[in-house]
Amino acid sequence: MAYFNEIFTGTKSLFVGLGITIKEFFKPVVTVQYPHETITMSARFRGHIELTRDLDTGGNKCIVCGMCQKACPSGCITVEGEKREGVKGKVLTVYRLDFTKCSLCGMCVESCKPSAIDFSKDYNLAGPSREAYVFDLLKRLEEQR
Ligand code: SF4
Ligand code: SF4
Repeated sequence: MAYFNEIFTGTKSLFVGLGITIKEFFKPVVTVQYPHETITMSARFRGHIELTRDLDTGGNKCIVCGMCQKACPSGCITVEGEKREGVKGKVLTVYRLDFTKCSLCGMCVESCKPSAIDFSKDYNLAGPSREAYVFDLLKRLEEQR
């Protein structure tokens, strides 16, 4: 009797499993063939920070106030600038982010009055060493032209 019971429960669970598979098969596809296909990240997604572009000048909007560097609790940001003849204020020369220490807390973005930095939508980072995650954000902005 136990033998037939086992056959019955085994067959039943097989059909239950097949029923679920068939039901799921006809539902809309929610996954993508990554990395051949990628999705658009949501507006609130936080990737590493990046410099934003000034649409009037095509350059960055940073005034080298250093507030983001001071606000960062993890010491991820290094900002340097210099005075140039004929230019009001300082010109940004270095904007380095050590993403290995970043907690994506957003303190830097919140502290930046000219909105010169924002979170990127970069979610598929990969690199062979820690150094690969130390970003020259000024160079990245220039490369995106
Ligand atoms: S998000 Fe937070 S931890 Fe990351 S760089 Fe900005 S202030 Fe630092
Ligand atoms: S990114 Fe913003 S907060 Fe940081 S130095 Fe530039 S202007 Fe100041």
